[in-house]
Amino acid sequence: MAETKSWREHQGKPIDSVDGFDVIECQTCGFKHIIPIPTLEELDKLYKDKFYSTEKPRYFKDVEEDLEWWNLTYCNYYHLFEKYCQKGNRRLLEIGSGPGYFLKCGKELGWDVLGFEPSKQATEYSQKSGIEIVNDFFNDSSAGKHGKFDVVYMNTVVEHLPDPIALIKCAKSVLQSEGIICIIAPNDYNPLQSILRENLGYEPWWVAPPQHINYFDFESIKRLLKRLGFEIMESTATFPMEFFLLSGDSYVGNDELGRKCHFKRKTFEENMYKYGKEYLKLIYRFLADNGIGREFMVVGRQK
Ligand SMILES: [Zn+2]
Repeated sequence: MAETKSWREHQGKPIDSVDGFDVIECQTCGFKHIIPIPTLEELDKLYKDKFYSTEKPRYFKDVEEDLEWWNLTYCNYYHLFEKYCQKGNRRLLEIGSGPGYFLKCGKELGWDVLGFEPSKQATEYSQKSGIEIVNDFFNDSSAGKHGKFDVVYMNTVVEHLPDPIALIKCAKSVLQSEGIICIIAPNDYNPLQSILRENLGYEPWWVAPPQHINYFDFESIKRLLKRLGFEIMESTATFPMEFFLLSGDSYVGNDELGRKCHFKRKTFEENMYKYGKEYLKLIYRFLADNGIGREFMVVGRQK
């Protein structure tokens, strides 16, 4: 990973303070992030050794249970990419490939796929499905060895990085001309979170240092991609989980209720994928246009 800037170079108004970290609206970076930014050594330890065992103990079990739903979502993403890639250009790199199911889905759809994954546990898990994974961080020294790609995809990665700008630049360097980047990450400090916070007694539960370093929203991620030489092709949302909080299901800090809410969202999407896929796409694009959605999904094409 590229060298992290000293925190002194990051300047902006502090907007929240959690567990000894301030969230600032950084003028240097153009998006919100915590200071101090954790060191690479601290993060290396967190992701290589213990992320999936101590931070996310139920992760693999949950993902297996949700696999049908994930695959519907993933197929939808691949179809979206096919819209922007010339016929026959089907080479995809996933940065932070986790359990590897996104890549497995792509392989089944005829894509040539490669993953980068720092966690040994997740790498071993995904290699069982015959997917090619590099067990390492994706950075300038590891990136160039695998050729060029038509798509670089990262799902819930940019919020964890000390230097997301360096990572996106590095991703750009392995893209074919006209290649696309797809970034999915939490849409934080969004309007529904503000409503909950200002009126319904919620603390900023989405601020989670040191795991979550950066707090992007639709505007800041699009601005960053444009600054780094991408044209925005798509902007869509995932289900606004805040709907549950606004409906009285206070799942924050209650994993069991969180899982129940997740099942409802899953059922909603499975039914919509089956019977009203076009409406689902319209709904999520409309939400995205208004800054709403638990995560954003933004696709940029290299200019
Ligand atoms: Zn900054």
